[in-house]
Amino acid sequence: MELDKMDENEWKYHGEGNKSLVVSHVQLSRVLRLLKYPAEDSENPPQTVEQAFRQVQNIVDFSSNVMSSLLGEKFIHSGEVVKLPLEFVRQLSIKVQHQRPGWRCDKVMDIYSGCALCLPNLTSPGLHQPHTPPLCIEIKPKCGFLPYSKHVSRDIKTKVCRFCLHQHYKVAIGKWKSRSLYCPLDLFSGNRQRMHFAIRHLIEEPQNNFKIFKGGQCVYSSKEGSDDSMDLNSLLHHLRPYFLYGNNRINSHMTSKALLNDFIQVLVNALLSGGGGDGGVTDRREGRSFCEASLFNKERIRHGSQGLPSDSVLYRIRQTQMLDTQDIEGLYPLYRRVEQHLQDFPKERTRLQMDGPYNEAFLEKLQKCPTEDDGSVEFAVAKVHQYRVAMTAKDCSIMVALVPSSEEEEDDEGQRQLRDFLSPRPPAFSYSVSILDLDPKPFDSIPRQLRLDQRIVSCYQRTGAALP
Ligand code: ATP
Ligand code: ZN
Ligand code: MG
Ligand code: MG
Repeated sequence: MELDKMDENEWKYHGEGNKSLVVSHVQLSRVLRLLKYPAEDSENPPQTVEQAFRQVQNIVDFSSNVMSSLLGEKFIHSGEVVKLPLEFVRQLSIKVQHQRPGWRCDKVMDIYSGCALCLPNLTSPGLHQPHTPPLCIEIKPKCGFLPYSKHVSRDIKTKVCRFCLHQHYKVAIGKWKSRSLYCPLDLFSGNRQRMHFAIRHLIEEPQNNFKIFKGGQCVYSSKEGSDDSMDLNSLLHHLRPYFLYGNNRINSHMTSKALLNDFIQVLVNALLSGGGGDGGVTDRREGRSFCEASLFNKERIRHGSQGLPSDSVLYRIRQTQMLDTQDIEGLYPLYRRVEQHLQDFPKERTRLQMDGPYNEAFLEKLQKCPTEDDGSVEFAVAKVHQYRVAMTAKDCSIMVALVPSSEEEEDDEGQRQLRDFLSPRPPAFSYSVSILDLDPKPFDSIPRQLRLDQRIVSCYQRTGAALP
């Protein structure tokens, strides 16, 4: 990829989130992740080229120096900052505009700075067989634990998880038409039945928490804002070739239910694996790990909760999320202490690394936080840093790439059919697991988080209990 010879025809729309838009290369396994601005700022960019460059560099540093050591290097691809020709970026923004979902168009792509993040394309890893391209599943799991901080003022927050509370709010304000029955506490439970249940509900109501890519192409995501071909039937059609085995392969017949079960099973295995390492110890957590809003029938768990293997991606993500030890209610007074200090001593902003740089010293600040509040600004800063890191971990996505294992070549078709007939076994996949979207969350967003928390809780108390 030569940066001075970029051709927009070699790039296509890949997807977007709230903060960035992603295009993928048509041949190379690469993506470019570009920043977005609110549409009302489209005439004059909200920041200079230098600031944009710093912002993208901060994302790389935060991911590679901070998140990677908390989440595990094996899951992280931090990428690099690139400076693209402005003409290329302008042509690209025109080219992708009509493919963007309408509900995302309150923001526009940054066409002024030319800065972007270049990353490996995690939805089309490496070489593969043309008839069975890799299947990649993206899950945005959200927060996997109930707050245990003594600062929590509303009882409901210790019983119903944040995602489930937030769902009621999102439906009330019209963000989504219907509520998702996915509950992160089920996904993070480590109990196969509960994880299965959680993934089934992600498939039923993907919202922005679940996507499936086949050979780099998104084939399943939220119904809202994508074309209506993305229904469950078309998903089953895409999955079927991967799950024909034994008698099923011979008859080409498999019920939809069995197909979906096999698919979810493979995904649960990948999520519970150590991402390539040896099996670690299983965590046994104290405290409540059930959300009262989850429809999973608690009596169905016969042997209690198994917990997550400590080298699994879900375990690492939840450990990092749990750096939010104070809850927003306990954190806000500490935020105010820092803010007051910065008003009195503006130059301290740099020493305390409020906006980076995100280097080893930053990581050390948050890891060496004293357990008791000694009233110092250092304690408050460390807690704010921890909270921001936890927020990133609550907002990241997991990408699971499933590549069908090639079958033993010496087998001729007749022999294989006979063997499959005698002992049918589920197809084998090799998988790799990555974590993406590890941007630092701004210091200034903390007051907004407190207001949102209050709105979500009061909305739930007004409407939540009445709903099924
Ligand atoms: P959010 O609103 O979740 O914060 P965001 O604006 O920060 O999202 P990302 O989640 O990083 O943006 O990227 C948007 C989408 O682009 C992702 O959901 C994913 O589908 C796709 N994507 C991002 N990075 C990659 C990658 N390295 N390889 C393949 N696809 C990617
Ligand atoms: Zn829940
Ligand atoms: Mg994202
Ligand atoms: Mg993000």
